[in-house]
Amino acid sequence: MASKTTVIHWFRKGLRVHDNPALVRAVEEAISRKSYFRAIFMLDPGILSWMTVGPNRWRFLQETLSDLDENLKKINSRLYVIRGNPNETFPKLFKLWNVELLTFEHDIEPYSIERDEIVKNQAEKFNVEVIEEYSLTIFNPELVVQKNRGSTPMTYQKFLSVASELKVPQPVDNPTKLPNSCIPELDKNELKDEEVYDVPTLEQLGVNSSEISEYSRFPGGETEALRRMNEKLKDVKFICEFEKPNTSPNSLEPSTTVLSPYLKFGALSARLFYQKIKEVYRGRKHSSPPVSLEGQLIWREFYYTVAATTENYDRMVGNKICTQIPWKTNPKYLEAWKNGRSGYPFIDAIMRQLKQEGWIHHLGRHAVACFLTRGDLWCSWEDGVKVFEEFLLDADWALNTGNWLWLSASAFFHQYYRVYSPIAFGKKTDPEGKYIKKYVPELRKYPSGSIYEPWKVSLENQKKYGCVIGTDYPHRIVIHEDAMKENLSRMKAAYAKKKVDVEETPQGKRKADS
Ligand code: FAD
Repeated sequence: MASKTTVIHWFRKGLRVHDNPALVRAVEEAISRKSYFRAIFMLDPGILSWMTVGPNRWRFLQETLSDLDENLKKINSRLYVIRGNPNETFPKLFKLWNVELLTFEHDIEPYSIERDEIVKNQAEKFNVEVIEEYSLTIFNPELVVQKNRGSTPMTYQKFLSVASELKVPQPVDNPTKLPNSCIPELDKNELKDEEVYDVPTLEQLGVNSSEISEYSRFPGGETEALRRMNEKLKDVKFICEFEKPNTSPNSLEPSTTVLSPYLKFGALSARLFYQKIKEVYRGRKHSSPPVSLEGQLIWREFYYTVAATTENYDRMVGNKICTQIPWKTNPKYLEAWKNGRSGYPFIDAIMRQLKQEGWIHHLGRHAVACFLTRGDLWCSWEDGVKVFEEFLLDADWALNTGNWLWLSASAFFHQYYRVYSPIAFGKKTDPEGKYIKKYVPELRKYPSGSIYEPWKVSLENQKKYGCVIGTDYPHRIVIHEDAMKENLSRMKAAYAKKKVDVEETPQGKRKADS
């Protein structure tokens, strides 16, 4: 056992050096206690029972960890990547490194809460002090609920008004450079550091690099996150005039920031981004929430707060905020939707972009989520969550679930009769169908007038355009107009059944439809 004590900072989501209060705390404590400092990340196999991770997100994580290791080197440290389950590994580390303090960022996901409770109990047994800091979101959900007299704000506007009464926490400075005395010497009984603790390669992560799409264009890591954010911030017009509904779901270059994958992994701090947006706004005319860029970050805050305080948030049954809707299990529909083979070119283009690139525009997400659930296929939003969870670079438990609840009109949004057309919606921003031609290349010779509805083209012309429907591209899986009609009546019945009177929630009383 090492004689000098060690302070550990455990990276989980906040994979960054900037604005990381728990990291700063660990570095300060290591210096003042004259201890060793080690920054660790655990490759926890258990996490895969909690979520599905597709090759693209593994790639993003691997790049994020490599970048974090480089950034830690700038403060005279490094990243120790530990292979193993935290519950089994921590007791070994506590002994091996003579740990006296463990710091980490508090998380709200049920898997993390359970895991962290076990680790905290183990730490107690080994006499290891634990410090948790909150930096996942701008506003700590606990403080929001406290400010709202113990209940969760269930609408965006209510959230906004509660948050406006809270002090906005400012980002903390980067940690200071560690003195050499805080850098652990190699313990003779351990394997050489680099052999055990290096950031794994994709192959070591079990990812076949041939599965990583050549189209993936968003590199992982804090350095890229800050570069991307700063580049966006330079465009003052974009920041000040940003109105989400006016951005395009099907432009070939993203019409929004694509900072979500970085925010998901915590490679970018939400409060830093928020502060920077406010700096750009200062003294200038700018758009306002909910549609502004600031408003987008508030959506994130809103969903996090509801997620942190709602029992069974990620399922329909037992979830008090979720309307109970008799969705059907339909593996054939689900597979067709997932693989971009629904026969609706706009829907298929979005789903193929999702699989290839790991990111799709918010309104693209609207279109395919509505299509899978109440719009056309009548599959459960829970099925949709799982597919998004696998493919999205930014897959985030709180946000993915919250938005699916919204789109399926299961919670937050109740105008179920407003259904996206899988034909007309995309045409508004891309009448020529360039986006479809890119992601559904078998249709690239179809003229703009028919590319959204290729089934209307005569067989002769289908042959002329090199893509026969039913042979080279699927027939429509459902007839939208008929499916929508039937689903509207099903939604109407589900809403009629739903209790609209006052319900009990863990936070107190509220109106089911508030
Ligand atoms: P911008 O418009 O540039 O917004 C900046 C940031 O604000 C985003 O990076 C994100 O952190 C936050 N934000 C924006 N819109 C929302 C929103 N509606 N809800 C919560 N936060 C928001 N976002 C995720 O980060 N992870 C998910 O798993 C996720 N799943 C979704 C599932 C569905 C069905 C839908 C409809 C939306 C989902 N979103 C999710 C929300 C939203 O689509 C993405 O955050 C956004 O498209 C990311 O692109 P951007 O960074 O360019 O966003």
